[in-house]
Amino acid sequence: MSDVIDAKAAATGGRTAEFNPDLAAIRAMSAALPGPPPLALNGVRVAASIRPRKFVIEGGDETPVTMPRTAFQVVYPDCSVMIDSGLDQATHDSFSPDKPEPYYAEQFAALQRALDQARLIILTHHHADHVAGVVAAANFSALAAKTIITMDVADCLMNTPHRPHLKLAQGAIAKFIVLDYPHLYPVAPGIVLIRAPGHSADSQMVYIRLQSGQEILHSVDSAWIMDNISQMKGKAAPWVKEDGPAIMAQLRWLKTLTETENNVTVLVTHDDDLFERLTQNGTIGQLKS
Ligand SMILES: [Zn+2]
Repeated sequence: MSDVIDAKAAATGGRTAEFNPDLAAIRAMSAALPGPPPLALNGVRVAASIRPRKFVIEGGDETPVTMPRTAFQVVYPDCSVMIDSGLDQATHDSFSPDKPEPYYAEQFAALQRALDQARLIILTHHHADHVAGVVAAANFSALAAKTIITMDVADCLMNTPHRPHLKLAQGAIAKFIVLDYPHLYPVAPGIVLIRAPGHSADSQMVYIRLQSGQEILHSVDSAWIMDNISQMKGKAAPWVKEDGPAIMAQLRWLKTLTETENNVTVLVTHDDDLFERLTQNGTIGQLKS
């Protein structure tokens, strides 16, 4: 199997990467902004893709894995902040035109209402299942005006769109709130963005601390399922072009977090069992609009 090892070494360039955000600094930063802390976290699954496990995790078999397409709502006493925006059915179907995959139109309608009513929307990275709810929305301008993206997300939306119809021109980008930060950014009371390039050049994670003291670390797409983290094995889909060493460093950090920080719940965008379990135990509530 030396060719496999060689291929791996070639993919990583023999490079290792560091990913070690300081949790104490993140916690302190989560209290930096004025305003009441968030009360609750809600989530929604608007669609799913079903992939053989061999694409989802290195060494996986043919077992089908259901990967939901999710978005989250952070609830404050007087408003809400959305994390990602799901995707409309046309965008979802554009990934598999010949073989439609599950789509939950009522859930997306609820997500659209939540986006309409949100004070602020955060887009974690430019991939279609995270941005299309804003980018392809009929009321794009109104949503973009309260949507925070980084310079990296803006650059990807303009120059390397995930889908041709999601490509944005400079004028459309100008409608967003665009920011840049080196490592961490307190984007709202109790919420800290963590720069985490790897899955894509513009990827971020999101730390959330609720008024109750409960902490949530949304790892977004660094892993596809929790097993990527617990087994330290990356995705293995032929179409996924990631920074391998960066992802491994992130998986290592996330694994340590799950093992040493009992108070922190790690979220993974596309892990259906995890979403189900966190819904059952009350960590993730039902979207409010
Ligand atoms: Zn995703």
